[in-house]
Amino acid sequence: MWCLCEKCEVLSMGALKKENYKIVRAHYKCIRCGECILNCPTSVWTRDSKKYHILAIMGSTGKKNPRLAEDFLLWSCEESIIKIIINTYKYVIEYIDLNALGGKEHMDYIVDRTGFMEFKKWDLDGVELDDIAKVSENIYWSGIRY
Ligand code: SF4
Repeated sequence: MWCLCEKCEVLSMGALKKENYKIVRAHYKCIRCGECILNCPTSVWTRDSKKYHILAIMGSTGKKNPRLAEDFLLWSCEESIIKIIINTYKYVIEYIDLNALGGKEHMDYIVDRTGFMEFKKWDLDGVELDDIAKVSENIYWSGIRY
C-alpha cells in the first residue's frame, strides 16, 4: 500500500513527509490538488462536507514577465466568489487604461497602477465572508514590473 507521502511525491508536489510517525504537510509546497485525500487508505484525511474555494489572483503569462498568482482569499463560499468576480469587472471598467497595450491591459498591471488596497476595496465591496474565510492583508508580487 502506498504511503500518502509517496503519493504526493509521485503525483503532485512532494509536500508531505513523515515526522514521529505522523504525516506533516509543508503548506508552502501544497497546491491543494487533493490527491492525498483521494488516496488516503484509511480515509483519515477527508474533505469538509461544505464546499470552500480559494481565490488566487493576478497570475499572468508572457515571455517577458510571467507572474505567479497569489492567494487572495482562502475558504470562501461560492456566493462570495461570484460577487467578487462581478466586483472585479466593475473595478476593471473603472480603471482600465484603454490606451495601454492596445486596450488589452492585464489585470496585474491595473492593480500595479491603482495599488492592491484599492483593488481589494472594490473586490470585497458588499461581500459577506464566512467566519472561516481569510483575506490576504497585502500581496507583494515578485518579478519585473513595467
Ligand atoms: S493536496 Fe497538497 S499534500 Fe495533498 S497531494 Fe496535493 S500537494 Fe500533496
